[in-house]
Amino acid sequence: MRGWFTLFIVTCLLCSPALPAESKQKQRNVEPIHRIDTQRKLVALTFDDGPDPTYTPLILETLHKAHVPATFFVLGSQADKYPQIMEWIKRAGHEIGNHGYHHYDLNKLTEQEIYDEIKRTEHSILRTTGTFAQYYRPPGGVMTHDVLNAVQLTGYDLIHWSVDPRDWSLRRTASVIANSVKKNIASGDIVLFHDGGLNQKQTLSALRELIRDLRSRGYRFVTVSQLLAAGKH
Ligand SMILES: [Zn+2]
Repeated sequence: MRGWFTLFIVTCLLCSPALPAESKQKQRNVEPIHRIDTQRKLVALTFDDGPDPTYTPLILETLHKAHVPATFFVLGSQADKYPQIMEWIKRAGHEIGNHGYHHYDLNKLTEQEIYDEIKRTEHSILRTTGTFAQYYRPPGGVMTHDVLNAVQLTGYDLIHWSVDPRDWSLRRTASVIANSVKKNIASGDIVLFHDGGLNQKQTLSALRELIRDLRSRGYRFVTVSQLLAAGKH
C-alpha cells in the first residue's frame, strides 16, 4: 500500500515538471539561512556532494560511534548511483537535504533549469529513502535571483552555512581544517563539510578531532531542522 502511494506521488511529480502556474505570485520571501541566534551551544554539521562510496560510509561510522547526528546535502546523481548508502544515511537517523542533481554552476542555468535540478533530486531522495527533503543548498552557495525564485517555487528552505573550513582544498590538512572550525565556531553555527570530493580523507580525520574538542567545550550536535527549531524558541 505504501509502495503504491509512493508510486502515486512520484508519478504526480513527474507529470508536472514545468514551473507551477502560481510561479509569478510571490508567496513568501526566501531568505538564505546561515546560522541561528541562540545562547545554547548547538552546532549543525553538514556534508555536501555525496553520497560517496568510499567516504560517506567512513563518515557515517565516525558519526555513529560518537552519537552525532548530521545533515547530508546529497546530489541526486550520486543518490541514484548509491541507493544503499542513501538508505544507510536515513536509517542512521541523519537528515537529508537537496543539493541539486549535477552540481552545475547555477550562474549558467535558467530558473526553470534550477527548478528541474531541485525537483529531479527530490525524486531521487524520495525513491531511495522514502522521504521528502525540506532543505536545499545550492552548489557553491550561489544565490542569484533565479536561484531564489526557483527555491521559492519548490517551497524548500534555503540553507547556507556560517563556518567553512574549505575541506575540499587539497592543500588543507586535517589539522588546518579542524583548527579553522575550532577558531571560528559559535553557538548556532552551521558547519560546511564535504563527504564527496577529493580531500575527504582529511575531512574524516578532522571530524574525529573536532567532535572530541567541541564536546569538551560543551557543544551539542544537532541536525539542521533541530537547529532551526531551537532558533524559534
Ligand atoms: Zn557542493
